[in-house]
Amino acid sequence: MQLTAKRYDTATVCRVTIEAGEISQVETIAHDSGDAESLPWIAPGFIDIQVNGYGGQEFSSAEITVEQVRTVVRRLDEFGVVGVCPTLTTNGFEALSHGVRTIAAACDEHHDVQARVVGIHVEGPYICREDGPRGAHPLEHCQPPDWEHFSRLQDAAEGHIVLLTLSPEYDAAPAFIARAVRSGVTVALGHMSATSDQIRAAVDAGASLSTHLGNGAHGQLRRHPNYIWDQLAEDRLSASLIVDGHHLPREVVQSFVRGKTPQRCILVSDFSGLAGLPVGRYDSSGCELEILADGRLVIAGQRQLLAGASAPIGRGIANVIAFAGVDLRTAVDMAGQHPLRLLGRTPGQLRPGDAANLTLFDYPADTPDGLNVRATIIAGDVVYGAV
Ligand SMILES: [Zn+2]
Repeated sequence: MQLTAKRYDTATVCRVTIEAGEISQVETIAHDSGDAESLPWIAPGFIDIQVNGYGGQEFSSAEITVEQVRTVVRRLDEFGVVGVCPTLTTNGFEALSHGVRTIAAACDEHHDVQARVVGIHVEGPYICREDGPRGAHPLEHCQPPDWEHFSRLQDAAEGHIVLLTLSPEYDAAPAFIARAVRSGVTVALGHMSATSDQIRAAVDAGASLSTHLGNGAHGQLRRHPNYIWDQLAEDRLSASLIVDGHHLPREVVQSFVRGKTPQRCILVSDFSGLAGLPVGRYDSSGCELEILADGRLVIAGQRQLLAGASAPIGRGIANVIAFAGVDLRTAVDMAGQHPLRLLGRTPGQLRPGDAANLTLFDYPADTPDGLNVRATIIAGDVVYGAV
């Protein structure tokens, strides 16, 4: 297969040859600027390390099946996503272990799931118990980090848990983090009510990410010090950001990207399981939620309290360009190169020998998704759209 497109990193027109699931050749070709205008951009496919579900299915459901896991991860093809971390949020041990076991089984049984799942992200249950930073995580299951508890979960997951979000506010956190990192798990900080010292101790122990910095936080914070400044200033922490236009105001995105530097920023969709459903009211674990006409997902009956995210990662790419003034290459790298490096993987860079996991898209594009994805290619197969 041969593709002609504009490289996302250099804007040059190139012909990419794909053989046996890999890029075998990349040639720069002469063109006139009129032709280039109509060509799509080509980039290493997007990686989304925080996806709670899609289309009415939560990964955290206590009844999720292998086929449902498969359906959700494949539905991300239309957004140019070639790698995903299915994300389970705070729950009882039985429900969490069922979730990770089912995702692991889906990877074992289905090659197409294995090709798409980078690893499991567990967000909680070792998070803050206070209203505000706890977000929508159920209080009865929030608890301090416990290595024995986590080890049993990782066993149920057959080792597929690659990312764990916890609060550093617990005394047990530094020793737990050091042990998790030694075992190969990337540790992220989030949903916290932690002091500067606790954050520093967590980072000294090996924590390397702030999960959705600026969200899952108190409605009101002491002006300084506070855990947002502490994490913003800590160069050993990358930060994942939900740049859907609703979770963080433009000026906050701009300040975070400048403060962290683009190299330490990672875009996530944080898709709720309700993402992708039509406008209307839905029951979610006994709580009534509503999808508004502007795409926001809120607690039903009001318009302020967000209950999850519903914009794809391409919206984040387009918004971070508009909000923070970064270029296309930088924004796309926040949704591909940076998350893979965080997880210790080597990202593809449109070079011969790289796995052919690619996204072809139009930008700018007048669409709620931010980008117009023309095709998604995984291991050399066109899994969405056409080339
Ligand atoms: Zn969260």
